[in-house]
Amino acid sequence: MTEPVIDVGSLDFAYPEAAALAVNGVDLTVERGEIFGLLGPNGAGKSTTQKVLTGLLRDYAGHVRVLGREVRDWGSDLYEKVGVGFELPVHYSRLTARENLQYFAALYEGETEDLDTLLDQVDLQPQANERVSRFSKGMRVRLSFARSVLCRPELLFLDEPTTGLDPVSARRIKDLILEHRERGATIFLTTHDMATADEMCDRVAFLVDGHIALIDTPRQLKVRYGEKRVRVEYRADGALEAQEFPLAGVADNAGFLAALRQPTLEAIHSQETSLERIFIRVTGREFE
Ligand code: ATP
Repeated sequence: MTEPVIDVGSLDFAYPEAAALAVNGVDLTVERGEIFGLLGPNGAGKSTTQKVLTGLLRDYAGHVRVLGREVRDWGSDLYEKVGVGFELPVHYSRLTARENLQYFAALYEGETEDLDTLLDQVDLQPQANERVSRFSKGMRVRLSFARSVLCRPELLFLDEPTTGLDPVSARRIKDLILEHRERGATIFLTTHDMATADEMCDRVAFLVDGHIALIDTPRQLKVRYGEKRVRVEYRADGALEAQEFPLAGVADNAGFLAALRQPTLEAIHSQETSLERIFIRVTGREFE
């Protein structure tokens, strides 16, 4: 069996002067060719974990093997093999899209992707010679993706790669991610977009308060937590009310039948278990 691309054991990380650990006892492995999703509420430690895995935070405890070597023992040659897309795209705004890619391509010792191909792929060819200062948010996010794959990485870390993109652009980026997986790359995806995680990821991990609450395939999670429900919406004193019932045995459910008899019935939806519902349950972050 080949060694996992990422192998993390008992990972702890504390920011200097912070009272609590930001990452607390994380264990996970990511196999070659996998798309692995790291999900979790704000402040759970996702970015911190990604920064440790990409060698940006080195003062950790535990072991973090990336591409066969402890990550703190890698030098800058790690970045010849690993691509990183940050959540908040940082570009040189006075340079054009092409100049930005040229600048970063020049930092690599190895071969890099053809810039025109990359610009085509993220649909920025028409704006290739425009300064990035004039770019919309979505254009910056697409340029950021192009930059993250400049070196045809073996391992690609992506933080919210489709946030702020229109549906067509988001589809394009998701298809590109799948193409990189097809050629053998491993993808570590951090996202709050549960639909994207469900569609793309072979496995997902839920990180809560710095530790992993659950790791599995989206499909298994839905089987495990899967109780189909039916939601009935009606008006009571002018306000919209909603009640949910288990789909199993619904014909004999007195509460459901009473809800159906509401004079101001507005909608009935059957609800599949979604990763979003699992997220709310696992993280306990249900809003009141
Ligand atoms: P989000 O979904 O909001 O991006 P996250 O899961 O990526 O959140 P992290 O940014 O990893 O969360 O933060 C984990 C914890 O570490 C939080 O309590 C946060 O306040 C803390 N933290 C993050 N960066 C620093 C820093 N530079 N110095 C001190 N504490 C930090």
